[in-house]
Amino acid sequence: MITSADEALLRRAIGIAAHAVTLGDAPYGSLLAGPDGAVLAEAHNTVRRDRDITAHPELKLARWAARELAPDTAARTTLYTSCQPCGMCDGGIVRSGIGRVVYALSTEQLVALNPASGAWPAVPQDGPALHDEARGPVAAYYRPTG
Ligand SMILES: [Zn+2]
Repeated sequence: MITSADEALLRRAIGIAAHAVTLGDAPYGSLLAGPDGAVLAEAHNTVRRDRDITAHPELKLARWAARELAPDTAARTTLYTSCQPCGMCDGGIVRSGIGRVVYALSTEQLVALNPASGAWPAVPQDGPALHDEARGPVAAYYRPTG
């Protein structure tokens, strides 16, 4: 359920997205808030500026949370973002331990505004292969010692 306090923070994320455009960046903004609503970090999309396909604000904040917050603290944070996180960011958010995401535009609503946003066909993957060779370093790493 999205509360009026959530909407206030979501409006701030939308404001970050609008500000990004004035900087020449793509119109996506996010922030990470603690359980009391205090803003811990903000980010906007800098894919073009940084020539970095991973420079989505949600992934920047997920990386920040994983690096700077203890897991129990991260679990109590909420990521507010102007658009629903893409698959890349969603994976990072899960691994970061962030507890909740609140977004404004859904992916479907974004694609209606920018059809190229939804044009990400899956890359063919072949595997598994070379199991005996590949398992060696992994098994050695995870083998209990002593
Ligand atoms: Zn993303």
